[in-house]
Amino acid sequence: MLSVENISFSYKGSAAVDAVSFSVQKGAITAVVGESGSGKSTLLRLIYGELDVGHGSISWEGQPILGPKDKLVPGHGYMKYVAQEFNLMPYITVAENIGAHLSGFYPKERKTRTEEILEVVGLSAYSNTLVQFLSGGQKQRVALAKALAKQPEIILLDEPFSYIDSFKKRPLRRGVFNYLKSNGIACVLATHDKDDVLSFADQMLVLQKGRVLSSGRPKDLYNNPGHPIIASFFAEYSSIDGVIYYAHQIKLVNKGGFRAVVNKSYLKEGFYLVETTYKGQRVFLNHFDFIRSGTNVRLFFDNNA
Ligand code: ADP
Ligand code: MG
Repeated sequence: MLSVENISFSYKGSAAVDAVSFSVQKGAITAVVGESGSGKSTLLRLIYGELDVGHGSISWEGQPILGPKDKLVPGHGYMKYVAQEFNLMPYITVAENIGAHLSGFYPKERKTRTEEILEVVGLSAYSNTLVQFLSGGQKQRVALAKALAKQPEIILLDEPFSYIDSFKKRPLRRGVFNYLKSNGIACVLATHDKDDVLSFADQMLVLQKGRVLSSGRPKDLYNNPGHPIIASFFAEYSSIDGVIYYAHQIKLVNKGGFRAVVNKSYLKEGFYLVETTYKGQRVFLNHFDFIRSGTNVRLFFDNNA
């Protein structure tokens, strides 16, 4: 188990991580979300032991994780970290970058491991390509493969799919998270993507200005966001008399309801997101059809939908 107990850290006076506590069970995935600058990367660097905690403690399986003050070279056999900026050797091939990480393995095993892991990240065809000739997204896949190659017990991923185009993101994501699950690898994942969280995370932590705004199971936070920042992470929402409604929880009715005027309809996957004005505020709803600007409509709010 990863145990993070009441840790704080400041770069120069201002707190980047402030009194954060959580734990991750073996094989579980915890997603850390929050706006840019909320402290996600700093939290991962603290867990990896790249920064010294100003306060609090971190341990894996009961063993403390030490920062640079007590351990000069960060890193541990059991823990791998994929930073937002990946560190690859440009003048050797993809396979060599990964193989370089498997020095303790017999050559045959090293080759099999490398092939297996390139398959997971979808780079088998690039095994013999020099890293310098790869795109940003492909380099990000190599960085992921390198971290996975040695079968860590826990992996820290900092926005691991940020450079991957949307054509390839979904299968890559399934490949990587299913690999983590089937190999019992625990994961702390910084992400901006609700699909990472809803489909794969066991637990989520919402950071705001370095502090934990909320935490829990993704499903529970989705159903009871409680806070506009949390709702906006998942979907378009409207706050009406202090109650948060997602766009799919607002319907149009022919009679009754609340009068609103349509501003604009946006095409989505199989439906339209319709922006309306209701009592001077913007209210979003999902509708199966396009509705012209200026149309008068009646809204029905249903947060059990
Ligand atoms: P996130 O990953 O959520 O975007 P970061 O952990 O990178 O957030 O940053 C948290 C805060 O710490 C921000 O205010 C950022 O400007 C600041 N910060 C990050 N890295 C440094 C650094 N090396 N030196 C000084 N301040 C930093
Ligand atoms: Mg970051």
